[in-house]
Amino acid sequence: MRDERESALAASWRKRPDALALTAGRRASAMPGARFPRSIGTFPTADELVQHLEEFASHHHIRVRTDFAVKRVDRDGDVWSERGRRA
Ligand SMILES: Cc1cc2nc3c(=O)[nH]c(=O)nc-3n(C[C@H](O)[C@H](O)[C@H](O)COP(=O)(O)OP(=O)(O)OC[C@H]3O[C@@H](n4cnc5c(N)ncnc54)[C@H](O)[C@@H]3O)c2cc1C
Repeated sequence: MRDERESALAASWRKRPDALALTAGRRASAMPGARFPRSIGTFPTADELVQHLEEFASHHHIRVRTDFAVKRVDRDGDVWSERGRRA
C-alpha cells in the first residue's frame, strides 16, 4: 500500500506544464527495472513521467491509496505501519 494525499499518483508532476521536462535523461530517470519507450525524447516530459509512473505501479500491482494524508509512520522490525486520515 502506498499513500498519496492528493487525488492521483504523481500528483506533483500532474500539476506541472507538460513542457517541463526532466533534467536527467530517460535512461537515468526510469524506475528500477523499467524503461521509457524509445519513441520519447531524451528528456521525458511531465506527462511522459506521469505515464511511466502509472505503468510502473500497474505492472507491479502497487496499490496507491489516494486522498490519504499520512500523519505518522512507525516501524517494528521489518513491519511498517502508518496512521493518517482522509485528506
Ligand atoms: C523541471 C524539473 C525537472 C526535474 N528533473 C529531475 C530529474 O531529471 N531527475 C531527478 O531526480 N529529479 C528531477 N527533478 C526533481 C524531482 O522532480 C523531485 O526531486 C522529486 O519530484 C521529488 O520527489 P518526492 O517524491 O520527494 O516529492 P514529490 O514529487 O513532491 O512527491 C511527494 C508526494 O507525496 C505526497 N505527500 C506529501 N506529504 C504527504 C503526506 N503527509 N501524506 C500523503 N502524501 C503526501 C505529495 O502529495 C506528493 O505527491 C526535477 C524537478 C523539476 C521541477
